[in-house]
Amino acid sequence: MVDHAAVPLVIIWLWVAPVLFARVIAEAKMRPGLVWWGVFLGWVGVAVAAFMPPGIGRSPVRCPHCLTLVPRQATRCAHCASELGTRAVSP
Ligand SMILES: [Zn+2]
Repeated sequence: MVDHAAVPLVIIWLWVAPVLFARVIAEAKMRPGLVWWGVFLGWVGVAVAAFMPPGIGRSPVRCPHCLTLVPRQATRCAHCASELGTRAVSP
């Protein structure tokens, strides 16, 4: 016989808690879309989100000097050390 009083607790632990964990991971990695892994897959989705690479801003841009991809917020290229300013172009 199933204890119906435990049903809300089961829902919280199998669905609400993973969504909250996925949200924390998504914010830490700057990838808001990772929350959906927790919403749809529960704890399995949290594990997937934990192994996803972190986001770097919205999308990287290409250094105009060496054409290496660098984070959009970067002011200096990590590869060739050139000042980027606003000259970085989209890939
Ligand atoms: Zn560069």
